[in-house]
Amino acid sequence: MEGLARHESLIQTLALLLAYLAVVLWERLRPLLSYDADDRWRMTSNFGLLVINHAAPLFVVPVVTAFSSWAASMMNVGWLNAVHAPRWMMFAMAVVALDLTGWVVHRAMHKVGPLWQVHRVHHSDLRFDSSLGFRFHPVEPALMAAANAAVVMVLGLPLEAVFLSGVITTLHNFFGHANASPADNVERGLRTWLITPDLHRVHHSAHIADSMSNFGIVFSWWDRLAGTYRAPAAKAPSDFGLDDVRDPRRLSLVSLLIMPFRRLLP
Ligand SMILES: [Zn+2]
Repeated sequence: MEGLARHESLIQTLALLLAYLAVVLWERLRPLLSYDADDRWRMTSNFGLLVINHAAPLFVVPVVTAFSSWAASMMNVGWLNAVHAPRWMMFAMAVVALDLTGWVVHRAMHKVGPLWQVHRVHHSDLRFDSSLGFRFHPVEPALMAAANAAVVMVLGLPLEAVFLSGVITTLHNFFGHANASPADNVERGLRTWLITPDLHRVHHSAHIADSMSNFGIVFSWWDRLAGTYRAPAAKAPSDFGLDDVRDPRRLSLVSLLIMPFRRLLP
């Protein structure tokens, strides 16, 4: 277990890179939408955010979540530590509870003004592909880490289970943002359980009514239960991004970093 804790950050990084490269290969072989080749401006933004987040909050999520799990077991706090739940239940609970936490935080980011200012950075891309898996303002993963840590402490989720949940979420992050789509019958089967790229494209639509649906991170159950599930009418919406920011010059890396604070600036 100590080995897992020591190497968690490295394993998460490798899982992230392998998942990203696998989805890039899928997008190259079977692209859903064809984009013109020049997208240096957005790749600079998306990979710039990866570099910044790698140095700070993106990797704070697994580390903070793992630390809170360790702290909960050391202090013997949390529901699962109190009831001595079987291990399979701890794993299932971690995957389901942390995914629900992601859904709640994601929905709050669309509903609460200051949180939306942060999450807008992720939605501002005019295209939809796997590089969106990197496009988060550094404040967003920091907020997610705090929410995860609270849930891990309250439930007393063990480190291995938290780790499994983190790897699943990382792998799904690139799949969900793929500019590619599984065969129709496979996709329809998958969307019963999972957020597929087709479902997540609806969420990235520039049309506000569509973007207020499909908040799920990995599982599609929460949206079905909450009535926010929206089946895609087409493989892709007519426009991605924000309807009030369509000029790529306003989507540079620096512009994205100051986007949440723009209203506070003179
Ligand atoms: Zn969103």
